[in-house]
Amino acid sequence: MLDELRELYQEVILDHGKHPRNFHGLEDANHSAHGYNPMCGDTLFVYLKVDEEGIVRDCAFKGKGCAISMASASMMTEILKGKSVDEAKALFERFHAMCTSDDTPPHTGNLDPDDLERLEVLSGVREFPVRVKCATLAWHTMTAAMEGQEEVSTE
Ligand code: ZN
Repeated sequence: MLDELRELYQEVILDHGKHPRNFHGLEDANHSAHGYNPMCGDTLFVYLKVDEEGIVRDCAFKGKGCAISMASASMMTEILKGKSVDEAKALFERFHAMCTSDDTPPHTGNLDPDDLERLEVLSGVREFPVRVKCATLAWHTMTAAMEGQEEVSTE
């Protein structure tokens, strides 16, 4: 990766880590879950408001953890608004692949290239396997919430 790009990515992560977006509870959430990453101590709650059509109308999170877990949760809440439950799951699958493999298959389906580009920022964690769980914790928690599971651990 080019040094400038790496620096830019770091800035984005630090900015989201320091000033997380949608960092609050959600009173009218109809799905929520608690996620925990014992490897690092990251702990967070994800709140979702999904309408009858299966579209995420609102998304927020609370919790504490390392900059990567906070930045990932912050970016996820921004990306998920307006997405269908299926799109959200497809994005997670794709993001997980980006974080764990060097050669992700060319993007298929109807995922938004802008979203994938944003997620690319975090996929640098693949160089640090222990950090993959930090980056994916929010997404695991979001999936658990959608499936009605209240607790999820990366272990
Ligand atoms: Zn962490």
